[in-house]
Amino acid sequence: MRYTWPRFLKTFAAVGAVAVIGLVVFELASALEPRIRMRVDAQRNPLVVFVVIDALRRDHVETLGSQRATTPDLARLAKEGFVASGMLAHSSQTAPSVASMFVSKAPHAHGVQFDPRTKRFGNNGKSKAPVLTKSNLTLAEVLRGEEYFTAAVVANPWLREEFGFAQGFDQYVEIPCHKHGRGVCDGARINEEASKVIRNHAAEKTLLYLHYLDVHNPYAHAGKLPRVFRDGPGRVVYRNGKAKGVSSKDLAYTIDAYDDGLLYTDSLIGQLVRELESVAAERDVLLVITSDHGDEFLEHGGLGHGSTLYPELLETFAIFWRPDGRARHPRDERLSGTIDIAPTLLDLVGIRKPREMAGRSLLGSSSGRPIIAELAGQKAAIKEYWGVIRDLDARQDEVVAYSGAAESEPSAELVAELSSLLDALDVRATVNSAAPDPKVVQQLKALGYIE
Ligand SMILES: [Zn+2]
Repeated sequence: MRYTWPRFLKTFAAVGAVAVIGLVVFELASALEPRIRMRVDAQRNPLVVFVVIDALRRDHVETLGSQRATTPDLARLAKEGFVASGMLAHSSQTAPSVASMFVSKAPHAHGVQFDPRTKRFGNNGKSKAPVLTKSNLTLAEVLRGEEYFTAAVVANPWLREEFGFAQGFDQYVEIPCHKHGRGVCDGARINEEASKVIRNHAAEKTLLYLHYLDVHNPYAHAGKLPRVFRDGPGRVVYRNGKAKGVSSKDLAYTIDAYDDGLLYTDSLIGQLVRELESVAAERDVLLVITSDHGDEFLEHGGLGHGSTLYPELLETFAIFWRPDGRARHPRDERLSGTIDIAPTLLDLVGIRKPREMAGRSLLGSSSGRPIIAELAGQKAAIKEYWGVIRDLDARQDEVVAYSGAAESEPSAELVAELSSLLDALDVRATVNSAAPDPKVVQQLKALGYIE
């Protein structure tokens, strides 16, 4: 007798098969089209928040290298979102690095660099501050062109409106750094201003750029914070550049103060995220978090940032997050640059990347392209986690391993390729600069950029 399945089993099997096929199709579509799954809906008044944590080095972030519980909120966002963990900044100074993020070009291409003739921003009356000129197309301009309300709250004097960084923004709030003590700009003020923008523009597509300075040296801010990592009495040491005679005790205390500032910043991000979650039922939310460069703790004989292009200063990250895990995606460990952030952000909000932007969406296929990083007197080309750093004055090249490099030496072909790339780089490209307001000079002094 021929066996026949009972009807309910047939139905059960059919439903199961459909479910399995549906699941496979969904998984395939998810894998093939993360853009579709992760993208915000332009009809739901997207709120895009772009956070830059100044001077945050990658290896002090939980899940990206820190052995300490420095960033519980960033760790949560990393788990629920998409992380580019092989990302490098294009400079170790704020102005050129932030400009590269917003225009998606290396510094020589956008012209925001220190004047090579003066090398540093001094108080001799001749030095000029770097300026982002109107000829550059910024992410804020692109989104404003798509009818976004664009607002920024920044706490770094290098990013003043007079230096061109406000272009494309409808509202640009500068948090002063000198009122509450030496070099201190409290990120709590940034959150207050951010709340106002979120509340007052709930019915408009919005870009909100927030630039926090609480991790930045001179770490004086940490003196007002709970002691979590600082243990016992100690002294914070800081400067930008070579640092001799720093005791191991002072260095350890300084790093502890840095981590206390980071833990505080992380709590501000947590507060911001709770606010974003509270509006997520009414509108689509995308949060992007990165840093403009790291900070040195004597790895190459110095402190602070802005004088070298070594890993501790260039290695950063980007976290893309949406509420309810909507941007969850496997971590991207490939080498990438912060010029890739704007194209990825535009990809996630469904806007075509303008031709002027040199970066690529991280949701696309692997590029394997070299990363260019620059200071006025130094240029670096990095590929496959190996870099060649060129000192333009000394005419010397140095081969440097970045995190992820194989233990063996790089191939001679790779070094030759990176060297010839540096040869081809136009180091005489236009440097745009302007004389700053004396008040700004005071703020830059407070941050240790000027003696
Ligand atoms: Zn910076």
